[in-house]
Amino acid sequence: MIHGGAGAISTPERFAPSLRRILLAGAAMLRGGACALDVVAECVRLLEDDPLFNAGRGSVLNAEGAACCDASIMDGRTLSAGAVAYVRRVRNPVLLARLVMERTPHVFLVGEGAEGFGRQQGVAFEEDTYFVMPERLAQLARAKEREATTLDHTSNDGKLGTVGAVVRDGACNLAAATSTGGLTNQMRGRVGDSPVIGAGVFADNDSCAVSCTGTGEHFLRTSLARTAAYFVEMQGMSAKDAAEAGVAYLVQKVKGSGGLILVDREGGCGVAHSTPGLLWASFHNGEMTVAAGQAGAPEQF
Ligand code: ASP
Repeated sequence: MIHGGAGAISTPERFAPSLRRILLAGAAMLRGGACALDVVAECVRLLEDDPLFNAGRGSVLNAEGAACCDASIMDGRTLSAGAVAYVRRVRNPVLLARLVMERTPHVFLVGEGAEGFGRQQGVAFEEDTYFVMPERLAQLARAKEREATTLDHTSNDGKLGTVGAVVRDGACNLAAATSTGGLTNQMRGRVGDSPVIGAGVFADNDSCAVSCTGTGEHFLRTSLARTAAYFVEMQGMSAKDAAEAGVAYLVQKVKGSGGLILVDREGGCGVAHSTPGLLWASFHNGEMTVAAGQAGAPEQF
């Protein structure tokens, strides 16, 4: 399963071709025997390269007009995890997060330290102009006028959103990854849930893989990805029930805004959201679904 962010999505059909293309690329990798970790990394890399989504290239701009990216990845086999936050000019933050996991003794690197590690590892960097798109500048100006920080979809008239992927592979291994540019007009230095293990991402072969999207502060305060996994592991819930129970918990505890995708160890898929919409796509038992989960919009297209 992949997602392209939660919010009020006025033109969901704009995202369907990208979601379909990226989902099919992941499914082809799985058919070729790739492991879940490789597939989540590749799906999120493709989502980061697509300017339609709020991650990597299409990242929203903070209050100072800069694109600062956060990303995370987790391997359900070993609970190994890697994350980066507040990185600038890194073309694919998810790949940098994976390098943190695989080539350092650490889980989480931030800011200049993470960028320096990326340079040392030879990851691709881009000029500021690669990230700063005219429509993102206009979106920031609108948010500043209203003195608001906003979820990408909500602020941008149907465009863009944080991205994520959750996969179970043929050997029943699970992995999850999440990547974001954060909230439009967020304070300099602000980091949300997306790079925080257990908040915006989680994977454990004993339960499930989860990727979240929404107002990061709500997911941080409820450890939401871990909470949804707890419902699977400790309460024996199905993927669908755990996704719904996770979002119910988010709303009940903090009136939270957002949603999540979840795949469990049996390969069951779950998706739930408290926002009007959430862009997602799944490939399950040979069947592809691409949906916006939005009241009044076509559920599948
Ligand atoms: N969760 C992200 C954040 O708060 C934003 C999003 O999901 O769109 O940084």
